[in-house]
Amino acid sequence: MKKKQTDGPRVRVRFAPSPTGSLHIGNARTALFNFLYARKEGGRLILRLEDTDLERSEERFETEIMESLRWMGIRWDEGPDIGGDRGPYRQTERVRLYRELARQLVTEGKAYPCFCTEAELEARRQEQMKRGHPPGYDGRCRRLSDEERARYLAEGRPHTIRFRVPEGETVSFQDIIHGEITFSSDTISDFILMRSNGMASYNWAVVVDDAKMGVTHVVRGDDHISNTPKQILLYHALELRPPLYAHHPLILGVDGKRLSKRHGATAVSQFRREGYLPEALVFYLVGLGGIVASDGPLKGMDEIVEAFDLSQVSKGTAVFDHKKLLWINGRFIRELPPDRLLGALKPFLEAWGVADKLGPEKVRAIVACGRDNAHLLTDFRPVFEIFTRHEVREWQPDGGTDRETARNILEIFAETCKQVEILDEEGYIRAAKAAMKRSGQKGRPFFMTLRRALTGQDHGPELVKIIPILGKDEVLNRIARVLERL
Ligand code: GLU
Repeated sequence: MKKKQTDGPRVRVRFAPSPTGSLHIGNARTALFNFLYARKEGGRLILRLEDTDLERSEERFETEIMESLRWMGIRWDEGPDIGGDRGPYRQTERVRLYRELARQLVTEGKAYPCFCTEAELEARRQEQMKRGHPPGYDGRCRRLSDEERARYLAEGRPHTIRFRVPEGETVSFQDIIHGEITFSSDTISDFILMRSNGMASYNWAVVVDDAKMGVTHVVRGDDHISNTPKQILLYHALELRPPLYAHHPLILGVDGKRLSKRHGATAVSQFRREGYLPEALVFYLVGLGGIVASDGPLKGMDEIVEAFDLSQVSKGTAVFDHKKLLWINGRFIRELPPDRLLGALKPFLEAWGVADKLGPEKVRAIVACGRDNAHLLTDFRPVFEIFTRHEVREWQPDGGTDRETARNILEIFAETCKQVEILDEEGYIRAAKAAMKRSGQKGRPFFMTLRRALTGQDHGPELVKIIPILGKDEVLNRIARVLERL
């Protein structure tokens, strides 16, 4: 993979999920953009777990998020699992740092302790709304005298630390995707840095971490645009230069609403279980950003890195279309190198318990046989079942043939099969032609009869692909078993 060397400081980006649930497809896209940008620029990707929500963060989600990222082919250079020299990479392990820096801002008069209780704040919010004012902290504790403050602290009153938002400032930044975005600091009320439980707020932890971890570019979803001016003000307070920002549009469902479970699968792990290929998901997700043409030639990760340009990510909303993803998955199933497809199928074959029964050569042949019709890896299951078990069903005349005709076709086909030396594709075609001639049957009734008798199914790959894998002995056995019951 080609790596661009930049003159400026080395690009350092981060993906910062909260381990409060599975990896959502929207967050996976954020991770992907960060990964692609780091690779493109020869920079580094940091994985940071934002686990400050103590009640909802769980270790199993950390594991699942990391597994999903790895499955997608996303690798990080620093993170909670592999370490790095700017760690630790879990926010709960960085609390001392947040506290120390908050204390520093308090000493400098840029932040202050706030003793308002939750109930008081709520009552005042209600009051503001009643008067038609936007709800926000009214700055009450900003105005406490030094004596009052000292007394409350000495009494050990629970308190938060709030940032003293400077008045009358214009906060402007050049977003790599959206262009210039401007906010007035007067629309931002004094917000919390440290909660009364001793944990940092999201905005504070992010700024401290991004600054201490040397993050150069923050690439994240549009939903964070309103946080950015707050974060920039915090950089100013710390006398640091903010990173560059790129906010990409969120993924919406076809109804224009934020993508959620109502629209179908949203967790990467679920797409994985349902039989999607990581290549397809990655290709589709970057296609949603306009980086590759979803209808164009398929691209793997290296080619996507080549094509990637953060500033070209589309500003328009990204509408997630499950049908399109399914179609792309089918294209990947057909176009991937056979070994890669086999690798992706392996866990499924193990779960279905078919690999041991068949041996590697047959497995390979069956995969080749099934790939033309499959959209999902799970579509291979009925194809494998053709070869691992033979079900003799009650004969169904619908769309096929009545019992008598079926018996006639099968008896004759068994004869013509015996007459060819090897029942490979060519042998099968000869046997079938001869049987059609002798039985006077052809087309759908003929083939449906063979298909039902030999596979127990009404659909599936072409018989010309199935029959050579079954082999002559098995074909004759199966026909004999069906004839016994017909
Ligand atoms: N933990 C935040 C999230 O998952 C990260 C936001 C950010 O990138 O700053 O939305």
